[in-house]
Amino acid sequence: DSQLNPHYTFETFIEGDCNRVARRAGKAVAEKPGATSFNPLVIYGGVGLGKTHLAQAVGNAVKKLHPHKTVLYVSTEKFINQFIDHSKHNAINDFIHFYQLIDVLILDDIQFFANAEKSQDAFFAIFNHLHQSGKQLVLTSDKPPKDLEKVQERLLSRFRWGLSADLQVPDFETRMEILENKMRNDGLEMPKEVVKYIAYNIQTNVRELEGALISLLAQSSLNRKEIDLDLAKKVLKSFIKTSSKEITIEAIQRMVCEHLGVPYEKLLEKTRKREIVQARQITMYLAKSFTKNSLKTIGEHFGGRDHTTVIHSCQTVKDLMETDTAFREMLMELQQKVQLSAL
Ligand code: ADP
Ligand code: MG
Repeated sequence: DSQLNPHYTFETFIEGDCNRVARRAGKAVAEKPGATSFNPLVIYGGVGLGKTHLAQAVGNAVKKLHPHKTVLYVSTEKFINQFIDHSKHNAINDFIHFYQLIDVLILDDIQFFANAEKSQDAFFAIFNHLHQSGKQLVLTSDKPPKDLEKVQERLLSRFRWGLSADLQVPDFETRMEILENKMRNDGLEMPKEVVKYIAYNIQTNVRELEGALISLLAQSSLNRKEIDLDLAKKVLKSFIKTSSKEITIEAIQRMVCEHLGVPYEKLLEKTRKREIVQARQITMYLAKSFTKNSLKTIGEHFGGRDHTTVIHSCQTVKDLMETDTAFREMLMELQQKVQLSAL
Protein backbone atom coordinates (compact mmCIF):
# COMPACT_ATOMS: atom_id res chain seq x y z
CA ASP A 1 0.00 0.00 0.00
CA SER A 2 1.42 3.35 -1.03
CA GLN A 3 -0.36 5.27 1.79
CA LEU A 4 -1.52 7.89 -0.69
CA ASN A 5 -4.75 9.83 -0.41
CA PRO A 6 -6.40 9.34 -3.83
CA HIS A 7 -7.92 12.85 -3.72
CA TYR A 8 -4.54 14.54 -3.71
CA THR A 9 -3.99 14.74 -7.47
CA PHE A 10 -2.67 17.31 -9.94
CA GLU A 11 -6.20 17.77 -11.26
CA THR A 12 -7.39 19.03 -7.88
CA PHE A 13 -4.25 21.09 -7.27
CA ILE A 14 -4.96 24.51 -8.74
CA GLU A 15 -2.03 26.18 -10.43
CA GLY A 16 -1.15 29.82 -9.78
CA ASP A 17 1.94 32.03 -9.64
CA CYS A 18 2.26 30.84 -6.06
CA ASN A 19 3.02 27.23 -7.00
CA ARG A 20 3.70 27.07 -10.76
CA VAL A 21 7.32 25.96 -10.64
CA ALA A 22 6.70 23.36 -7.95
CA ARG A 23 3.60 21.98 -9.66
CA ARG A 24 5.28 21.70 -13.06
CA ALA A 25 8.39 20.14 -11.60
CA GLY A 26 6.11 17.68 -9.82
CA LYS A 27 4.44 16.76 -13.10
CA ALA A 28 7.77 16.31 -14.85
CA VAL A 29 8.94 14.05 -12.05
CA ALA A 30 5.74 12.01 -12.21
CA GLU A 31 6.20 11.46 -15.93
CA LYS A 32 9.83 10.38 -15.61
CA PRO A 33 10.51 9.42 -12.03
CA GLY A 34 14.23 9.26 -11.33
CA ALA A 35 15.10 10.37 -14.83
CA THR A 36 14.96 14.17 -14.53
CA SER A 37 17.43 16.48 -12.85
CA PHE A 38 14.77 17.16 -10.20
CA ASN A 39 16.06 14.47 -7.88
CA PRO A 40 15.40 14.94 -5.12
CA LEU A 41 12.44 17.21 -5.66
CA VAL A 42 12.13 19.29 -2.51
CA ILE A 43 8.83 21.13 -2.05
CA TYR A 44 8.91 23.68 0.73
CA GLY A 45 6.59 26.30 2.20
CA GLY A 46 4.55 27.30 5.22
CA VAL A 47 1.71 25.34 6.78
CA GLY A 48 -1.40 24.70 4.75
CA LEU A 49 0.10 25.76 1.42
CA GLY A 50 -0.21 22.37 -0.25
CA LYS A 51 3.07 20.53 0.31
CA THR A 52 1.43 17.26 1.26
CA HIS A 53 -1.15 17.55 -1.50
CA LEU A 54 1.44 18.23 -4.20
CA ALA A 55 3.88 15.58 -3.01
CA GLN A 56 1.07 13.02 -3.01
CA ALA A 57 -0.10 14.18 -6.41
CA VAL A 58 3.30 13.11 -7.73
CA GLY A 59 2.80 9.71 -6.13
CA ASN A 60 -0.72 9.27 -7.48
CA ALA A 61 0.35 10.29 -10.97
CA VAL A 62 3.29 7.86 -10.93
CA LYS A 63 0.95 5.04 -9.95
CA LYS A 64 -1.26 5.86 -12.88
CA LEU A 65 1.47 6.43 -15.47
CA HIS A 66 3.83 3.70 -14.26
CA PRO A 67 1.70 1.03 -12.60
CA HIS A 68 4.66 -1.31 -12.13
CA LYS A 69 6.59 1.16 -9.98
CA THR A 70 6.37 1.02 -6.20
CA VAL A 71 5.46 4.31 -4.59
CA LEU A 72 5.54 5.00 -0.88
CA TYR A 73 4.39 8.06 1.00
CA VAL A 74 5.56 8.41 4.58
CA SER A 75 5.67 11.27 7.05
CA THR A 76 9.08 11.90 8.54
CA GLU A 77 7.60 11.39 12.00
CA LYS A 78 6.42 7.94 11.05
CA PHE A 79 9.75 7.18 9.39
CA ILE A 80 11.55 8.08 12.61
CA ASN A 81 9.18 6.03 14.75
CA GLN A 82 9.61 3.02 12.50
CA PHE A 83 13.34 3.45 12.69
CA ILE A 84 13.26 3.54 16.48
CA ASP A 85 11.11 0.39 16.58
CA HIS A 86 13.47 -1.43 14.30
CA SER A 87 16.53 -0.38 16.21
CA LYS A 88 14.99 -1.70 19.44
CA HIS A 89 14.70 -5.04 17.73
CA ASN A 90 18.15 -4.88 16.18
CA ALA A 91 16.56 -4.76 12.76
CA ILE A 92 17.99 -1.55 11.31
CA ASN A 93 19.22 -3.38 8.23
CA ASP A 94 15.73 -4.68 7.50
CA PHE A 95 14.43 -1.15 7.85
CA ILE A 96 16.98 0.28 5.44
CA HIS A 97 16.55 -2.60 3.03
CA PHE A 98 12.77 -2.12 2.93
CA TYR A 99 13.12 1.51 1.87
CA GLN A 100 15.84 0.75 -0.65
CA LEU A 101 13.37 -1.31 -2.71
CA ILE A 102 11.05 1.62 -3.38
CA ASP A 103 10.96 3.34 -6.78
CA VAL A 104 9.42 6.65 -5.67
CA LEU A 105 9.87 7.60 -2.03
CA ILE A 106 7.88 10.56 -0.76
CA LEU A 107 9.02 11.79 2.63
CA ASP A 108 6.85 14.52 4.12
CA ASP A 109 8.00 17.22 6.56
CA ILE A 110 11.70 16.49 6.71
CA GLN A 111 12.14 19.34 9.20
CA PHE A 112 11.22 16.68 11.78
CA PHE A 113 14.62 15.08 11.20
CA ALA A 114 16.04 17.83 13.42
CA ASN A 115 18.16 16.20 16.12
CA ALA A 116 17.18 12.67 15.08
CA GLU A 117 20.78 11.73 14.35
CA LYS A 118 20.41 7.97 13.97
CA SER A 119 17.36 8.29 11.75
CA GLN A 120 19.30 10.71 9.59
CA ASP A 121 22.08 8.15 9.27
CA ALA A 122 19.56 5.58 8.08
CA PHE A 123 17.98 8.02 5.66
CA PHE A 124 21.42 8.92 4.34
CA ALA A 125 22.02 5.28 3.44
CA ILE A 126 18.57 5.00 1.86
CA PHE A 127 18.96 8.26 -0.06
CA ASN A 128 22.31 7.24 -1.52
CA HIS A 129 21.09 3.85 -2.61
CA LEU A 130 17.89 5.17 -4.21
CA HIS A 131 19.61 8.07 -5.93
CA GLN A 132 22.37 5.88 -7.32
CA SER A 133 19.85 3.38 -8.66
CA GLY A 134 17.92 6.09 -10.46
CA LYS A 135 14.98 6.03 -8.07
CA GLN A 136 13.02 9.18 -7.30
CA LEU A 137 12.90 11.07 -4.01
CA VAL A 138 10.27 13.68 -3.24
CA LEU A 139 10.75 15.57 0.00
CA THR A 140 8.76 18.32 1.67
CA SER A 141 9.87 20.80 4.27
CA ASP A 142 8.45 23.81 6.05
CA LYS A 143 11.53 25.86 5.18
CA PRO A 144 14.14 25.97 2.42
CA PRO A 145 16.56 23.07 2.83
CA LYS A 146 19.46 25.43 3.52
CA ASP A 147 17.64 26.75 6.61
CA LEU A 148 16.93 23.31 8.06
CA GLU A 149 18.42 23.17 11.51
CA LYS A 150 20.07 20.18 13.12
CA VAL A 151 20.11 18.26 9.87
CA GLN A 152 23.46 16.84 8.80
CA GLU A 153 25.36 18.83 6.22
CA ARG A 154 25.92 15.72 4.09
CA LEU A 155 22.13 15.39 3.77
CA LEU A 156 21.62 19.08 3.05
CA SER A 157 24.23 18.94 0.31
CA ARG A 158 22.39 16.04 -1.32
CA PHE A 159 19.14 17.96 -1.20
CA ARG A 160 20.88 20.57 -3.34
CA TRP A 161 21.50 17.97 -6.07
CA GLY A 162 17.93 18.26 -7.21
CA LEU A 163 15.39 21.05 -7.33
CA SER A 164 13.95 22.99 -4.42
CA ALA A 165 10.69 24.69 -5.30
CA ASP A 166 8.59 26.75 -2.93
CA LEU A 167 4.87 27.18 -2.38
CA GLN A 168 3.65 30.69 -1.62
CA VAL A 169 0.32 32.01 -0.41
CA PRO A 170 -1.99 32.05 -3.44
CA ASP A 171 -3.08 35.43 -4.76
CA PHE A 172 -6.73 36.44 -4.85
CA GLU A 173 -7.53 34.97 -8.26
CA THR A 174 -5.99 31.64 -7.34
CA ARG A 175 -7.84 31.63 -4.02
CA MET A 176 -11.09 32.16 -5.93
CA GLU A 177 -10.27 29.30 -8.24
CA ILE A 178 -9.41 26.98 -5.37
CA LEU A 179 -12.73 27.75 -3.66
CA GLU A 180 -14.77 27.41 -6.83
CA ASN A 181 -13.06 24.19 -7.75
CA LYS A 182 -13.63 22.73 -4.32
CA MET A 183 -17.30 23.68 -4.42
CA ARG A 184 -17.70 22.18 -7.85
CA ASN A 185 -16.08 18.92 -6.74
CA ASP A 186 -18.25 18.71 -3.64
CA GLY A 187 -21.42 19.75 -5.46
CA LEU A 188 -21.82 22.93 -3.41
CA GLU A 189 -23.16 26.32 -4.33
CA MET A 190 -23.12 29.75 -2.79
CA PRO A 191 -23.46 33.29 -4.04
CA LYS A 192 -20.44 34.63 -5.90
CA GLU A 193 -20.18 37.62 -3.56
CA VAL A 194 -19.76 35.26 -0.62
CA VAL A 195 -17.04 33.28 -2.37
CA LYS A 196 -15.33 36.57 -3.18
CA TYR A 197 -15.66 37.68 0.42
CA ILE A 198 -13.91 34.54 1.63
CA ALA A 199 -11.18 34.76 -0.98
CA TYR A 200 -10.50 38.43 -0.24
CA ASN A 201 -10.33 37.99 3.48
CA ILE A 202 -8.62 34.68 4.10
CA GLN A 203 -5.05 35.43 3.13
CA THR A 204 -3.18 33.04 5.36
CA ASN A 205 -3.17 29.68 3.63
CA VAL A 206 -5.26 27.19 1.70
CA ARG A 207 -6.15 25.09 4.70
CA GLU A 208 -7.79 28.09 6.38
CA LEU A 209 -9.48 28.99 3.12
CA GLU A 210 -11.06 25.55 3.01
CA GLY A 211 -11.77 25.71 6.74
CA ALA A 212 -13.69 28.95 6.29
CA LEU A 213 -15.77 27.42 3.51
CA ILE A 214 -16.55 24.35 5.61
CA SER A 215 -17.59 26.28 8.73
CA LEU A 216 -19.80 28.48 6.66
CA LEU A 217 -21.54 25.49 5.14
CA ALA A 218 -21.89 23.87 8.54
CA GLN A 219 -23.38 27.02 10.07
CA SER A 220 -25.86 27.49 7.28
CA SER A 221 -27.20 23.95 7.63
CA LEU A 222 -27.37 24.33 11.43
CA ASN A 223 -29.33 27.55 11.06
CA ARG A 224 -31.29 26.20 8.10
CA LYS A 225 -30.34 29.45 6.53
CA GLU A 226 -29.28 30.36 3.02
CA ILE A 227 -25.66 31.40 2.82
CA ASP A 228 -25.44 35.14 2.31
CA LEU A 229 -22.92 37.86 3.04
CA ASP A 230 -24.33 38.53 6.52
CA LEU A 231 -23.93 34.93 7.58
CA ALA A 232 -20.46 34.86 6.03
CA LYS A 233 -19.37 37.92 7.99
CA LYS A 234 -20.65 36.44 11.24
CA VAL A 235 -19.12 33.01 10.73
CA LEU A 236 -15.80 34.21 9.39
CA LYS A 237 -15.12 36.66 12.22
CA SER A 238 -12.91 34.11 13.92
CA PHE A 239 -10.95 33.49 10.74
CA ILE A 240 -10.30 37.08 9.87
CA LYS A 241 -7.46 38.32 11.97
CA THR A 242 -7.46 42.05 11.21
CA SER A 243 -9.72 43.50 13.88
CA SER A 244 -9.84 47.03 12.57
CA LYS A 245 -10.88 46.96 8.98
CA GLU A 246 -9.90 50.51 8.26
CA ILE A 247 -8.32 50.81 4.85
CA THR A 248 -4.68 51.84 5.09
CA ILE A 249 -2.29 53.19 2.49
CA GLU A 250 -0.08 50.14 3.06
CA ALA A 251 -2.98 47.78 2.43
CA ILE A 252 -3.76 49.55 -0.84
CA GLN A 253 -0.11 49.47 -1.85
CA ARG A 254 0.03 45.72 -1.25
CA MET A 255 -3.17 45.17 -3.14
CA VAL A 256 -2.10 47.17 -6.18
CA CYS A 257 1.30 45.48 -6.24
CA GLU A 258 -0.30 42.05 -6.10
CA HIS A 259 -2.83 42.95 -8.73
CA LEU A 260 -0.31 44.43 -11.15
CA GLY A 261 2.55 42.11 -10.31
CA VAL A 262 4.85 44.94 -9.27
CA PRO A 263 7.33 44.46 -6.39
CA TYR A 264 6.30 46.52 -3.36
CA GLU A 265 9.75 48.14 -2.91
CA LYS A 266 9.58 49.59 -6.40
CA LEU A 267 6.69 51.84 -5.39
CA LEU A 268 8.93 53.52 -2.86
CA GLU A 269 11.96 53.87 -5.08
CA LYS A 270 12.74 56.45 -7.69
CA THR A 271 12.30 54.10 -10.65
CA ARG A 272 10.88 55.84 -13.70
CA LYS A 273 9.90 52.65 -15.47
CA ARG A 274 6.52 53.12 -17.06
CA GLU A 275 4.64 50.32 -15.33
CA ILE A 276 6.07 51.28 -11.95
CA VAL A 277 5.16 54.93 -12.43
CA GLN A 278 1.65 53.91 -13.36
CA ALA A 279 1.32 51.53 -10.40
CA ARG A 280 2.43 54.38 -8.15
CA GLN A 281 -0.10 56.77 -9.65
CA ILE A 282 -2.93 54.29 -9.30
CA THR A 283 -2.01 53.58 -5.69
CA MET A 284 -1.92 57.29 -4.85
CA TYR A 285 -5.29 57.78 -6.49
CA LEU A 286 -6.83 54.89 -4.54
CA ALA A 287 -5.23 56.09 -1.31
CA LYS A 288 -6.76 59.51 -1.92
CA SER A 289 -10.22 58.04 -2.62
CA PHE A 290 -10.34 55.42 0.11
CA THR A 291 -8.43 56.86 3.07
CA LYS A 292 -8.64 60.10 4.99
CA ASN A 293 -4.92 60.71 4.72
CA SER A 294 -3.65 64.10 3.57
CA LEU A 295 -1.85 64.50 0.26
CA LYS A 296 1.32 65.07 2.24
CA THR A 297 0.95 61.81 4.19
CA ILE A 298 0.19 59.91 1.02
CA GLY A 299 3.30 61.32 -0.64
CA GLU A 300 5.41 60.31 2.33
CA HIS A 301 4.31 56.70 1.90
CA PHE A 302 5.95 56.63 -1.51
CA GLY A 303 9.53 57.22 -0.49
CA GLY A 304 8.92 60.86 0.48
CA ARG A 305 7.28 62.44 -2.56
CA ASP A 306 5.56 65.76 -2.11
CA HIS A 307 1.89 66.63 -2.34
CA THR A 308 2.12 68.09 -5.86
CA THR A 309 3.23 64.68 -7.15
CA VAL A 310 0.15 63.15 -5.54
CA ILE A 311 -2.14 65.75 -7.11
CA HIS A 312 -0.53 65.17 -10.49
CA SER A 313 -0.89 61.38 -10.12
CA CYS A 314 -4.58 61.59 -9.26
CA GLN A 315 -5.19 63.82 -12.25
CA THR A 316 -3.32 61.47 -14.58
CA VAL A 317 -5.42 58.54 -13.39
CA LYS A 318 -8.66 60.46 -13.86
CA ASP A 319 -7.63 61.46 -17.39
CA LEU A 320 -6.71 57.90 -18.28
CA MET A 321 -10.02 56.61 -16.98
CA GLU A 322 -11.81 58.85 -19.45
CA THR A 323 -9.73 57.90 -22.45
CA ASP A 324 -8.67 54.29 -21.94
CA THR A 325 -11.35 51.63 -21.52
CA ALA A 326 -9.00 48.84 -20.52
CA PHE A 327 -7.46 51.09 -17.91
CA ARG A 328 -10.87 52.04 -16.55
CA GLU A 329 -11.88 48.40 -16.24
CA MET A 330 -8.67 47.52 -14.47
CA LEU A 331 -9.14 50.40 -12.07
CA MET A 332 -12.73 49.50 -11.36
CA GLU A 333 -11.67 45.99 -10.52
CA LEU A 334 -9.07 47.36 -8.13
CA GLN A 335 -11.60 49.68 -6.52
CA GLN A 336 -13.89 46.73 -5.98
CA LYS A 337 -11.06 44.83 -4.34
CA VAL A 338 -10.30 47.68 -1.98
CA GLN A 339 -13.95 47.96 -1.06
CA LEU A 340 -14.34 44.26 -0.48
CA SER A 341 -11.28 44.18 1.74
CA ALA A 342 -12.97 46.61 4.10
CA LEU A 343 -16.25 44.73 4.50
P1 ADP B 1 0.77 21.50 3.87
O1 ADP B 1 1.19 20.07 3.73
O2 ADP B 1 1.68 22.44 3.14
O3 ADP B 1 0.56 21.94 5.28
P2 ADP B 1 -1.64 20.54 2.60
O4 ADP B 1 -1.05 19.85 1.42
O5 ADP B 1 -2.10 19.71 3.72
O6 ADP B 1 -0.63 21.67 3.14
O7 ADP B 1 -2.82 21.48 2.05
C1 ADP B 1 -3.82 22.00 2.91
C2 ADP B 1 -5.15 21.93 2.20
O8 ADP B 1 -5.18 22.86 1.13
C3 ADP B 1 -5.43 20.57 1.60
O9 ADP B 1 -6.80 20.27 1.74
C4 ADP B 1 -5.10 20.75 0.12
O10 ADP B 1 -5.87 19.89 -0.70
C5 ADP B 1 -5.45 22.20 -0.09
N1 ADP B 1 -4.65 22.87 -1.13
C6 ADP B 1 -3.44 23.43 -0.99
N2 ADP B 1 -3.00 23.99 -2.12
C7 ADP B 1 -3.96 23.78 -3.04
C8 ADP B 1 -4.11 24.12 -4.43
N3 ADP B 1 -3.16 24.79 -5.10
N4 ADP B 1 -5.26 23.74 -5.05
C9 ADP B 1 -6.21 23.07 -4.37
N5 ADP B 1 -6.14 22.74 -3.08
C10 ADP B 1 -5.03 23.07 -2.41
MG1 MG C 1 1.62 18.62 5.17
